Parts: sequence; structure tokens; C-alpha cells
Amino acid sequence: MIKDTFGRIHDYLRISLTDNCNLRCFYCMPEEKYAFAPAGKLMQVQEIETIAKLFVDHGVKKIRLTGGEPLVRKDAPKILKSLGKLNVELAITTNGIRVNEMLTELLEANIKTVNVSLDTLQREKFLKITRRDLFDRVRKNIDLLLENNVRVKINVVIMKGLNDDEILSFIELTKNHNLEVRFIEFMPFTGNLWTSNQVYTLHEILLKVSSRYDIIPVEPLPNDTSSKYRIDGHSGAFAVISTMSQPFCDTCNRMRLTADGKLKNCLFSKDETDLLGALRNGEDILPLITQTMMSKAKALGGQFSGVFEDIDVSKLENRSMITIGG
Ligand code: SAM
Ligand code: SF4
Repeated sequence: MIKDTFGRIHDYLRISLTDNCNLRCFYCMPEEKYAFAPAGKLMQVQEIETIAKLFVDHGVKKIRLTGGEPLVRKDAPKILKSLGKLNVELAITTNGIRVNEMLTELLEANIKTVNVSLDTLQREKFLKITRRDLFDRVRKNIDLLLENNVRVKINVVIMKGLNDDEILSFIELTKNHNLEVRFIEFMPFTGNLWTSNQVYTLHEILLKVSSRYDIIPVEPLPNDTSSKYRIDGHSGAFAVISTMSQPFCDTCNRMRLTADGKLKNCLFSKDETDLLGALRNGEDILPLITQTMMSKAKALGGQFSGVFEDIDVSKLENRSMITIGG
């Protein structure tokens, strides 16, 4: 089992497959001229399998593929096939653009839940956020997943003045569709121009939803990173990931492997450990993994306190979200 000094057991690994993407969400990939990592620097299929297997042998029960956009990798089908054989729950977070092209591979890899990111239900606004006119494709692919009995969670980064006016429209979507809408508080990363007054908090979201509906809290599962709620008469549910206003670090069980093979013990950690370099040098990477996790800070990568209004973004040392893997 992979533990830290606070007794937290880490059994969930998020693997970024690439820092490349077919969208350009402004809060994630800062600039149009962003230079993607060259292919040789990324973990190759066999390397991903070797590292993932080692984690699974040491207690990892769930692996999530992410990025960048995981499905833009040409060898994504091979990766899905190889990880689908491991004794682990496999999940994926995607922007949904290529789901129709990869549906068979996703189903064959035994992926039961797909998290699709969609911050707006308006075509024009989608173009403004992602800088690509692909709203209809994502919407259709969400329906495609549901038709194929795949559980769908829709990730919505809520930002003040951008899409907070659509919270009730997203809730409306859960009435007749058995899906979970997950509102995510806007987080600061290198280059994303975060300011605290753009954060729309858990408290504000609940106020907004309760202006129209009675909200029923759902009992959390161990290691849940979201607060989940139901509404009477709705087939689906909604949840809030309140990283900024009410972090959930006490029960965190997550580890992150970047596409270039660096292990981060927290989304906000400034330190990283080069597992890929060590693996390519023929070293035993298990001690590197255990040491990295033993150095995990109690909360938020040790970079800021729970009072998000006090964060000085100029002092944060981290990558941009697209190079970490959300
Ligand atoms: N490309 C895939 C996607 O968009 O789902 C996977 C990678 S993306 C980095 C993973 C998740 O992180 C998405 O749901 C995205 O909206 C979220 N995200 C990116 N930047 C964020 C930020 N600054 N604050 C909160 N969530 C963010
Ligand atoms: Fe791409 Fe996902 Fe980041 Fe948007 S949030 S730019 S889809 S990696």
C-alpha cells in the first residue's frame, strides 16, 4: 500500500496521456502558441503499462486517463487495450470530441463511467471558452454514451460572469437524463489568469439551486472529492467539487502521473519525481514512488491555505493544468 505521513492510503492514480488537445479552453491551456511536448518525451504504451502495473501491484484500485485530451493520442486504442487488462477500475476524463471514434475501444476496455467536460449549453459560449466550434459534437457524444449504457458525469468549471447563469439549465438536464453534473470551482494554475473573484463557490451554487429546488444531500463515499446532491423527481444528480472554498485534502487518495512521466503527489505540488527517466535508466522506481508520496503535504500541495481569497498567484509554483492532467 502506498501511504503518506498522515496515514492517507493512495489507491487512485490519474495518468495523463498527453499535453496535447483538440480544444483550447482558456482557463486550462493559457496561450494559442503553447508548445506541446515532443512525442519522444511522452511515456510510450509499454512504459505506461509497466508503471501502471507497478502501481496496481502496490494497491492502486482505480486509474483515470486524462490529459490534455487523452483521446487525441493516436495510440490511445492500444493504451486502452493494455490498461483494460489490468485488475483495476479504469476511468477516463475527456472533452468528448472523439468519443464516437473510440466508443468500441472504450467499451472493450471495460470503462463504465466517462467524465465529459462541458462548461456551457450554449454553442456560442462553447466557442468562446474552447476556441473551437465543436459544441454539437460533444452534445451528441454525451447522448451516444448514454445510449450505450455508459454512466456519464459532466464536468462544468463554474466561473463568475461566464457560466454561473447556466447552473439551473445544467440542473434541468438532470431531470430526464440519468447523468451527474459536477460543478468545479475555478482553480489557479500557471498562466490561467486566476483571480479569487472569479470563483463561484459551493455555497453560492447551493443557494442558486435551492432558489428553485429542494436539495437532498447524498451520503458521501470514502475518498469522495465532491459533495453530491439529488433532487426529487430528477433521474440524475449533481455534485460540487469545492477545491477552493472547502478542500477535501483530509481524505485524498490521489496520485498524478504527467504525460512526461513525472509523479506529483498533489495537483498543487511544486515538486515532481521523474519516474520515466528513472525507468529508462533501468532503475527501480518503487522507492521513488514511496518517497514522493511520503513527502505529500497535508493540504493543497503546501502552497496555500484554505482561504482562497488570500492566495497570491504570483507565488504559486506549478505547471499549467493542461501539462499536469486534471
Ligand atoms: N481534456 C479532458 C477534459 O477536458 O475533460 C481532460 C483534461 S482536463 C485538464 C480535466 C478537467 O480539468 C476538465 O474537466 C477541465 O474542465 C478541468 N479544468 C481545467 N482547468 C481547470 C481549472 N483552472 N480549474 C478547475 N478545473 C479545471
Ligand atoms: Fe483541452 Fe480539457 Fe484543457 Fe479544455 S480542459 S483545453 S479540453 S485539456
